[in-house]
Amino acid sequence: MHTYLAENGVAALTSQFQIAVNFTQDPQLACNAAYIGDAIVVGLCDMATPSVNFAYDSVIVMHEYTHGAVDKTSQLAMPSVDDWGLMGMPGALNEAYADFFPSTFLNDPVIGRHVAPAIGMGPSMRNLDDFHGCPDDLVGESHDDGRIWASANWAAFKASNKDPQLVKAVLEAMVSLSSTPPSLTPRPSPCRSPAPIPRACWRPSTRPTRATA
Ligand SMILES: [Zn+2]
Repeated sequence: MHTYLAENGVAALTSQFQIAVNFTQDPQLACNAAYIGDAIVVGLCDMATPSVNFAYDSVIVMHEYTHGAVDKTSQLAMPSVDDWGLMGMPGALNEAYADFFPSTFLNDPVIGRHVAPAIGMGPSMRNLDDFHGCPDDLVGESHDDGRIWASANWAAFKASNKDPQLVKAVLEAMVSLSSTPPSLTPRPSPCRSPAPIPRACWRPSTRPTRATA
């Protein structure tokens, strides 16, 4: 994954990376995988019957590695607060890139094909062929909201006949982002009408209607 990202213009991770595999019985980590800052944790889920090892699901390891590349470049933030309240779109973009780049590398839009059935999530965790739109598919959970940007980029990748230049452009765009979006000002006041706000992913105009998967 490092070579793939470097060949596309971003040698983001140039130092050694620690990976902890099968080291905990904590179900929050044992049945999961995570990038935790210069390290990746990959679990062996004994609560599944039969147990399932996340280390054997290559796209999941690549997903976490890509989080590291994002962390070393645009540093897209986890949920934060802006003038309008809790704002999770940078985290959703982070998840989107962590799904998109491994999918283009593997030429496979399915995320979690190995582990998802074992932990009761159906045939996959996410499938980028399932198009998600904004704002109808915003639900406030970063992995789910990330499907919007990931599936749009995957659709563009397919429409380009899987042109490597598109991957390079998406990667360059990711690197160019700031960790949080520009603040939306002025703050709305009950004493006057707020300035018109552009319809944007990080501020849905309607409440989400789709349940979290
Ligand atoms: Zn992730």
